[in-house]
Amino acid sequence: MVVMVEGLVANAVNCGETDKMLTLITRQYGKLSVYCRGGRRISSNFMTGSLKFTYGDYVINKTEKLNLLQEANAKMSFFDLHKNICAASLADYICEVLSDVTMPEEPDNDMLDLALNCLYVLSEGKRAPDDVKTVFEWRMAEHLGVCPDLSGCHKCGKADKEWYYLDIMNGELTCRDCGKGADEKQADEDDGTAKITVMMSGAEVYAANRIINADKSRMFSLPKDEKIKKRLGEVSEKYLCNHLERSYKTLEFYKEISKM
Ligand SMILES: [Zn+2]
Repeated sequence: MVVMVEGLVANAVNCGETDKMLTLITRQYGKLSVYCRGGRRISSNFMTGSLKFTYGDYVINKTEKLNLLQEANAKMSFFDLHKNICAASLADYICEVLSDVTMPEEPDNDMLDLALNCLYVLSEGKRAPDDVKTVFEWRMAEHLGVCPDLSGCHKCGKADKEWYYLDIMNGELTCRDCGKGADEKQADEDDGTAKITVMMSGAEVYAANRIINADKSRMFSLPKDEKIKKRLGEVSEKYLCNHLERSYKTLEFYKEISKM
């Protein structure tokens, strides 16, 4: 069956001498592995459309054994990402998470749009990479339906406290008065599940809430305070990676690169 899809090349792996295998995150069929014959030849019609981070229209011969690329027309190539190793390594992490959470035959356009927005601001250099990462992680948690309830202490309901404990796996906040003795820790509960608690200040909780609930056009407005921003990023990373139950080499690489 020949299908037309719109999607993002989340990964491109070289095969044989001139071919590529693409991971395409599409609006119509979710995640698709697509074989791109001759895609690495300079003369190939697929040369631009099959580059990693490209968003475009694709014609694919979809069979049970193999999805074969027939046409590729780039709409946005985010080409500047390839010129900046820090931005490129963060884009790699964003694409890896996106392809991890998108299932074949189960398109999720909200998650695809979130990734595309992040790639856009990264390639334009409109925001610091660390800020893009923080926004991506909080909003991805929201899209996945595992976002913490940041409306206030889950025991007393108060939302005006200076400090809270965030229970990462349960996604619950507890204020200091209700959670006495619950220091920041990673411990095992009696039933063997990991309990990970981090501290968040009232200002950090407020800022995270704003990122999660902001309109798309305003989602990158972060607080100016560098300490709050740094902490927001540490918590979002811990939160998302624990809920996805894995670590990402692309994330470790980004963190190494961004320190340089
Ligand atoms: Zn409380």
